[in-house]
Amino acid sequence: MDIDKDTKKQEDEYFARIEFEKRQKALKEKQKQIKSTERKKLKEEHWMHCPKCGMEMVEITFEGIKVDKCSDCLGIYFDDGEIDQLIAKNKPGFLSRMTSVFKD
Ligand SMILES: [Zn+2]
Repeated sequence: MDIDKDTKKQEDEYFARIEFEKRQKALKEKQKQIKSTERKKLKEEHWMHCPKCGMEMVEITFEGIKVDKCSDCLGIYFDDGEIDQLIAKNKPGFLSRMTSVFKD
């Protein structure tokens, strides 16, 4: 077993988590200032639209996992909990089978 590699992985994981938590905290403070009516409006405008290019997303269920795919830039999006489901169901090769669904 390569202890150095494991330590490096744990460090990477730790620093990524710290970075996420730091940015999330700053954004949550900002979000507190947004009124509920404004939030509702934002949700209506952005629902099922690509977070990157703003075009409409297509939702499919593949092997029991919901996947949202952008109809324009082709980015793939998983809702909260869907990656956890994927890990829990342990589906080796899922990502390559799923992406092949979208290939011409
Ligand atoms: Zn897009």
